[in-house]
Amino acid sequence: MERHIVHCDLDSFFVSVERLLNTELVGKPVLIGGKSDRAVVASCSYEARKYGIHSAMPMKLALRLCPDAIVVQGDHDLYSQYSNIVTEIIQESVPLYEKASIDEHYFDLTGMDKFFGCWKWTKELRQRIMKETGLPISFGLSANKCTSKIATGQAKPCGELKVDNGTEKQFLAPLSIRKIPMVGEKTYTQLRNMGISKCLTLQQMEVFTLRRVLGENGISIWKKANGVDDSPILAYQEQKSMSKETTFQEDTIDMQKLKKTLAKMVNELAFDLRKDQKLTGCITLKIRYSNFDTHTKQIRIAYTNSDRMIGEKVTELFGKLYSRRMLIRLIGIKFSHLISGNYQTDLFNDDVKDLRLNQAMDRIRLRHGFQAVAKGDLFGAS
Ligand SMILES: [Mg+2]
Repeated sequence: MERHIVHCDLDSFFVSVERLLNTELVGKPVLIGGKSDRAVVASCSYEARKYGIHSAMPMKLALRLCPDAIVVQGDHDLYSQYSNIVTEIIQESVPLYEKASIDEHYFDLTGMDKFFGCWKWTKELRQRIMKETGLPISFGLSANKCTSKIATGQAKPCGELKVDNGTEKQFLAPLSIRKIPMVGEKTYTQLRNMGISKCLTLQQMEVFTLRRVLGENGISIWKKANGVDDSPILAYQEQKSMSKETTFQEDTIDMQKLKKTLAKMVNELAFDLRKDQKLTGCITLKIRYSNFDTHTKQIRIAYTNSDRMIGEKVTELFGKLYSRRMLIRLIGIKFSHLISGNYQTDLFNDDVKDLRLNQAMDRIRLRHGFQAVAKGDLFGAS
């Protein structure tokens, strides 16, 4: 059966949310990020992009490129709230959808009668999202996830694009290899050194050649450049959660020990999130007492993978849940509502130095294991 897959992406999402709250920002170059000397740009408006500014650029450099740009301190809570409103509208309308990141969704319309039906239906959904949230959004429709995502990129800002079944190669041929989502800086340089800049060139190559240079990745890239991608829509509810539990050798009431254990679990889980380039939007804490009574408490949080931000929430949960002063047998933490994203830490508050420190620590851990480096304790327990 022909698949009909939609990808949609909110346009310069953080900036659009800020503009809802402050209309003075409309039409102007806006940078979202910290205000310190060493802050980085987390997101920027299309007006700012005209000056060559992009996300992850040092704020200082961005302001040199465009001195008139308005800097707005970001707000994770606010953006997560708007993100969830968009998800709710999609959830009401579509049986199978995937929340891919804070501002991106995929949904599967396979089985709807005609392609035209899918197109019309998606256009209407887009209008509804924009009307109900006030946020601009773009979408791409094609037979697979990757082509649709690339189509969204071509439709932006505030547009829609359909790639008919069978015309994927034609659509992709003139585009830069940069447009393929898995081609990062390193792969791009490698391919450029081979004289490849357009998808067309990849289409004309033998898959084996790419495999020789890039390994399994080369096969994926070749397939994507040819408009082939079988990956399924991963239903939001079924996306994996991450959890850890600790059963104490002896039931305990020792607060220092409990807090230290929680801190260790948070550090390890947050590292796992970053390793998989995920963010969590929901934390569950579980306590099992010595009599096997088990209690859990859950909170929705702003999407994050920061040890510090998650640690604060877990501390808050623990304070609420552990009120009985009974011996504890087991504690557990679970992250769910996982989406893709890679804020290394809190982009809006941390400066470049913190960011680099955290990234360096994670790199060491990836190579030598989690225990290789340790940070000061999150919970004030040592
Ligand atoms: Mg976006």
